[in-house]
Amino acid sequence: MPFGHDMVYSLATVVELVNTSPSTGGDDGLADLAELQSFVESRQVSGIGTLTPRDLGQVRMVREAFHRVFTASDLPTAVRLLNALLSETRITPRLTEHDGHPLHVHYFAPDATLAEHLAADCGVALSHLLVDGEWERLRTCSAPDCDKVFVDESRNRSRVYCDSRTCGNRMHVAAYRARRRA
Ligand SMILES: [Zn+2]
Ligand SMILES: [Zn+2]
Repeated sequence: MPFGHDMVYSLATVVELVNTSPSTGGDDGLADLAELQSFVESRQVSGIGTLTPRDLGQVRMVREAFHRVFTASDLPTAVRLLNALLSETRITPRLTEHDGHPLHVHYFAPDATLAEHLAADCGVALSHLLVDGEWERLRTCSAPDCDKVFVDESRNRSRVYCDSRTCGNRMHVAAYRARRRA
């Protein structure tokens, strides 16, 4: 995909965020503040102060809004849902260099909460994806017991599993066993 590093990073962040949702199968990956804190650290979300239960509630809401964008039945629906999310988010483009990262653009307001930070940066990344005609790359895993989302970065948009080592491998083994039985 011809996307810059920041955008790829923000897309990976939104995928990881959505996949903590119990609606993608499994337990809530953001069950408490400690889990929210480790999410922030693993995604290196910058400029975040002390997290509160309020942050947890807001992030979970943003997470579900992003999940709806991933699972939208068509492009116009995805556009409408993303516009709704963006319209509730303060967006302030700002060039920055921090923590040794090269010059890049932040979209969240300087005093943004964690939820606003994620909504702004991930929302803008998704909007570029849609504008570039790449909406179909927003996918949900095809394994029957997995609803995790992913961004298909393959050249021919052929990826169907959230993770080739887990779901992909599992489904290949199942198909192999089914063939042997036949
Ligand atoms: Zn940054
Ligand atoms: Zn999967």
